[in-house]
Amino acid sequence: MTHDRHQFPGGARFAFTVIDDTDVATVENVQPVYRLLESLGMRTTKTVWPMRCPEGSRNFWLSETMDDTHYQDFVVDLRARGFEIAFHGATMETSTRERTARALERFRSVFGAPPRVHANHSYNRENLYWGAGRLDDPALRLLYGRVFGQGAQLYEGHRPGSPYWWGDLCVEQIEYVRNLTFSEINVLRVNPSMPYRDPIRPYVRWWFSAADAEDVDEFNVLLRPENQRRLEAEGGVCIVATHLGKGFGSAGKPHPETRRLLELLASRNGWFPPVGELLDWLRARQAGDGLPAGEWRRMQWRWARDLLARRLAARRRA
Ligand SMILES: [Zn+2]
Repeated sequence: MTHDRHQFPGGARFAFTVIDDTDVATVENVQPVYRLLESLGMRTTKTVWPMRCPEGSRNFWLSETMDDTHYQDFVVDLRARGFEIAFHGATMETSTRERTARALERFRSVFGAPPRVHANHSYNRENLYWGAGRLDDPALRLLYGRVFGQGAQLYEGHRPGSPYWWGDLCVEQIEYVRNLTFSEINVLRVNPSMPYRDPIRPYVRWWFSAADAEDVDEFNVLLRPENQRRLEAEGGVCIVATHLGKGFGSAGKPHPETRRLLELLASRNGWFPPVGELLDWLRARQAGDGLPAGEWRRMQWRWARDLLARRLAARRRA
C-alpha cells in the first residue's frame, strides 16, 4: 500500500507523541518530564490506574494511583494543561470485572468522560487479546506461548463469562487500544493503516501501534538525532510507548540527555498532540478501516524480531 506523505496541521512535517504507561510512576518521578514536555509545546498521553492495589504488588508497589490524593490532583491538573489521561486497567495487578467497572466509573466521575485510550498492563489477566492472543500467525503464537510463557488463554478481558471480562465496557467506552510496538521511530513505516479495526477482535474499536522504549535509556536511543531527522524527512508519525516513571526524572529535574533530545525535537517543524487527537486525525484521512493481510503479517514478524532484539540487548546490559 502506498502512503501519501501527510500534510500535518499547521504545516508540520511530522507528528510526535508519547503514551506513558504508569508503571512505577509517582508525582515525584514524572513531574519534571511533564513540565519539560509542556514547556516545549508537547501535549502527550498519560495512562493512570484509578484504584490502589490493597493486595500488594511485587513489581509495581512503588507506583501511585488515583487513590493517592496528590497523584489524582497532579493528573487532573495535567489534563487541564492539555495532556490526555488514559486507562491502564484498574490497577497494577489483575482485576475482576467488578474492580474494572468501578475504576472506569471513578475515571468518568473525575474527568467527566470515559478514557479514549487504553493500554494493557503486564500480566494482568483482564488484559484484552494479550499474550499470544495479540498474534494470528500460528508459528509466532506457538513460539510466543512456549518461549515467553505468554499463552493466549491467560488473558480473559475479552471472554464473556470470565471473572475478568470487561470487553463490553471497553468497546462501549474506549476508542483506541494499543497492540504491537516496534523498534522504529516512524510507526507509519510498519503500520501505515493505523488506526485499524480487526473483525476477529471485536471488543476493541480501533487498534494502534507504537514505537517501543521501555525506559529512559531506550527512549534516548530511539530519539537520537539521526532518527529525528529521518522521522521528519519521511513525514512520519511517532507514538512512543514508554514508562516516564523509569529514569526520566530525579531530584526535580528531567534526565539531561532526554532534555537535550526533546529540545532538539521541539525545534523541528513537528505536530505534538496527544495520542487520541493524533489517531482521530489519521482516521479522518483513511480510505478504509481494515488492516491489509500482508501488512498485518509483516507487522507480526517485525514485532517478534524487535522484541527478541530488545530482550537480547537488555540481557547484554544486565
Ligand atoms: Zn504497564
